[in-house]
Amino acid sequence: MQIVKLPNSIYTTAQLNNLSGAGNSYATSDASKTFTDADLSQIMAANGQGSWKFNLHTHQLTLCPVAMKLLGFKAGVPVTLTMGIRRLVNLNACHVLKVLKAACRDHSRAEEVIKVNVANTVAWLKITGNVFYSNGMALNMMGTVADVTASKNEEIRRMDLMAFLNHELRTPLSTVKLYIQNARYVAQAENNRSLADRMLKADYQTVRMANMIDNFLTLSHLEVTRVMVDATRFDLSKVVEDLVSEMAFMYPDRLFKIELNKPVVVEADKDKVVQVLTNYLTNAVKYSPADGAINVSCRQIGKQVKVAVTDKGAGIGAKDQKLLFNRYSRVHDQNTIRAKGFGLGLFLSREIIESHCGKVWVKSQLGKGSTFGFTLPGI
Ligand code: ADP
Repeated sequence: MQIVKLPNSIYTTAQLNNLSGAGNSYATSDASKTFTDADLSQIMAANGQGSWKFNLHTHQLTLCPVAMKLLGFKAGVPVTLTMGIRRLVNLNACHVLKVLKAACRDHSRAEEVIKVNVANTVAWLKITGNVFYSNGMALNMMGTVADVTASKNEEIRRMDLMAFLNHELRTPLSTVKLYIQNARYVAQAENNRSLADRMLKADYQTVRMANMIDNFLTLSHLEVTRVMVDATRFDLSKVVEDLVSEMAFMYPDRLFKIELNKPVVVEADKDKVVQVLTNYLTNAVKYSPADGAINVSCRQIGKQVKVAVTDKGAGIGAKDQKLLFNRYSRVHDQNTIRAKGFGLGLFLSREIIESHCGKVWVKSQLGKGSTFGFTLPGI
């Protein structure tokens, strides 16, 4: 009998001849007649896919040998969810639990690409999961694990290029800002009001550009991973105070009021928190009349730190409030649509605050104004 060798397989000519008639065989939708559990595991393993199961009642985690290997666990060692979470880099337990809870609540499929540290090497894993029910009760969550490091590294290279370009834009912009502010001081000292006014307008444009660059950089990060949090310990009340003084300097006609507890210490990514506050403050200026005061508060309430920005603008209807923090969401009414924007600031603010295990919120009444706030865990 002639043996034909194909990659990884050996077929007899009889088998190959049989294959030519295979087109006439009926596919069966009954998987149990076609695939055994071992077949399915082999198919997945050959494609570099592992599987996992989490019992939502006993909290027992089961990983197949491929998933164990991808997560860097030795075969046969019992693994708990906490041990699995410890492998994650830049992603905290609260996020993983949030995804699990959301999937159970919404009956939805969960999918996350996460960074893991296995034997001091960073890898990217795509983890999917579905909740499986019995008599209407959520019983297990099961899904797949696959190594996507190669494609992720390609995305990261693209993101690094974006970061580089943003940095190259940001640096000269800071210098331009300094010159503009100097020119404004000189114009004020020389009582040249018209030049001082024009310099103020130019300064305002540099703030808008810098804020846009920051938002687009965070967006490009988000397309690759979750927001990267580079946390340090700092006094948030000082940051709020400085930023509000800067805004008051930029908008001398506007009245900013500030209420602070001092100090209010948090462990967070300072630049990102400044980005959120800048989004809230520029929105308050953009979407409220020139004679309306803007109140900013920063308080420690129990274990939480609460920051709020209140304006006396047109306010937002209840239906629109629910959508505001979604990507590209803008309210289409005559009071707000005249102001330019992309509908990204609030979406990115939510992503940033949630990656710190905090929450964003809005309270608003049509015709009265709005309060945009966020909470962060205090120290
Ligand atoms: P952008 O301002 O660039 O459109 P944002 O994500 O910052 O994007 O805001 C989304 C939308 O939310 C805005 O387009 C506006 O309709 C509404 N909005 C935000 N802040 C306020 C505010 N303080 N008062 C009224 N509407 C606001």
